[in-house]
Amino acid sequence: MSLDFDVVVIGAGFGGMYMLHRLRLKGFKVQVFETGKGVGGTWYWNRYPGARCDVESVQYSYQFSPELQQEWEWTERYATQPEILRYANHVADRFDLRRDIKFETRVTKATFDEGAHAWTVETDKGDRVTARFVVTALGCLSSPNTPRIPGLADFKGPTYHTGNWPHEGVDFTGKTVGVIGTGSSAIQSIPMIARQASHVTVFQRTANYTVPAHNKPLDPDHVREVKANYPAMRKRAKATPPGIDFKINMASAMATPEAERQREFQERWDYGGLGFMASFSDLLLNDESNKTAAEFVHAKIREVVKDPELADRLSPRNVIGCKRLCVDTGYWATFNQPHVALVDVSDQPIERITAEGLRANGKDYTFDCLVLATGFDAMTGALLRIDIRGRDGRSLEEKWTEGPKTYLGLTMAGFPNLFTITGPGSPSVLTNMLPSIEQHVEWIADCIEYVRSRGATLIEASRDAEEAWVGHVGEAAGATLRSSCSSWYIGANIPGKPRVFMPYIGGFPAYIERCEAVVKNGYEGFSLSF
Ligand code: NAP
Repeated sequence: MSLDFDVVVIGAGFGGMYMLHRLRLKGFKVQVFETGKGVGGTWYWNRYPGARCDVESVQYSYQFSPELQQEWEWTERYATQPEILRYANHVADRFDLRRDIKFETRVTKATFDEGAHAWTVETDKGDRVTARFVVTALGCLSSPNTPRIPGLADFKGPTYHTGNWPHEGVDFTGKTVGVIGTGSSAIQSIPMIARQASHVTVFQRTANYTVPAHNKPLDPDHVREVKANYPAMRKRAKATPPGIDFKINMASAMATPEAERQREFQERWDYGGLGFMASFSDLLLNDESNKTAAEFVHAKIREVVKDPELADRLSPRNVIGCKRLCVDTGYWATFNQPHVALVDVSDQPIERITAEGLRANGKDYTFDCLVLATGFDAMTGALLRIDIRGRDGRSLEEKWTEGPKTYLGLTMAGFPNLFTITGPGSPSVLTNMLPSIEQHVEWIADCIEYVRSRGATLIEASRDAEEAWVGHVGEAAGATLRSSCSSWYIGANIPGKPRVFMPYIGGFPAYIERCEAVVKNGYEGFSLSF
């Protein structure tokens, strides 16, 4: 049977773009399908005011091309969404990617043909193509979560979701705005919305920890130095658990004298960003250590927020770093402004959305515009939106009834020739996504090339290898405080979703080592068919 393509790639974000490039270099015929009108994935959709990456721009970038790395000029410490999107478009142009990407086309179904050892991929535009392999590059946070609050359709004004923001932007000048959610997207957007709006009411279910970004324009001397030493920096980053080049203090917080501990926290606070959680090595392992960091942040909130009762309501109660730490610019200070109000909805869920606003705690709140900063059906949502059918017509949804099961977060037993970039069971969202994406893309491209070089037509993970990996992912999660709260890492934000800690928390170096060992051992845990 002659197939239309060697590989179909689903998604043209950073994963899909590099996958296409890498496979082309190896001479494979590839078709990419992308729902959006352009490349960029997350950075194409998340256009809410204040959107920027919480990993420093010189690190949140591709490293596969030294030329690209040298020629691109980041302008700020933390790049804004428009700048990252410009970068994605530059990459697409530079490597001539668009000619193999079909835009505005959503893949609806992928079915494995056991006789042909091939996939049939169908789209909402009527495409029906065959390919030996399918690679999903759907992103981990790309299926927006619209909460099931009664009456959502009743609201008379416009409703915006941060994860699917209007491309033309939104002018809130003179408007009253209601914001539901206080996660990263809300924490970035609320200060910006408050600059324009005449009144903002923020509905908070769970207060979140955030550290200051201290964003600034990049100093040209610093950029020159980074560029001159890029390989060394990338190597250092790969050796840290999150794949980010920052100094990890290996000391225990509890074993460190109080004054020294405060100095360490303060230094990290003054520097800004996610490195705060690397102040001590046991912040996510030991409750008491964790509390020292949490209390440091509580004190910062009290310093900034003038009303002590409001400061208390803004202070998170759970383990710091259990939910993803946020990085902000002026979030708490925003609540000192008289036109910004915080409504606690932690005790009772929002009752309903009304025509004029919403009803919570037995009280009606009115506003002109509603912003849902309510996050995503993370890690599995985008995959399960596609009707994926493996052996015996079994759906992925059926396979994952009790939570996602993968081998290395890259493949699944019963779904031959299918790969997931940064899938559940890989470090993905616990790391800098760009190096994680590159590592997956390179592993997958090498694997596909290996299958071809052996004259085989099918590769499949064994159930035993998958079970062992799922067990290891679960064990690793159980050893930290990260599974102790209701986060999207365990699917707690989506009613009915199985509670399983989805990403692999063993760290980027251990994960890379494991992936490399699998290859060295002749693709251990996989079987080939001809
Ligand atoms: P999120 O962290 O899941 O936050 C969603 C917020 O909505 C939470 O405060 C949640 O409360 C609230 N919520 C959801 N349903 C609700 C309901 N029915 N009633 C009241 N409140 C409700 O989503 P996000 O802020 O979009 O961030 C998701 C992830 O994307 C981040 O953790 C991060 O990994 C990534 N991100 C990164 C950046 C960056 O690089 N700077 C920016 C944005 C996002 P609960 O906490 O109680 O569930």
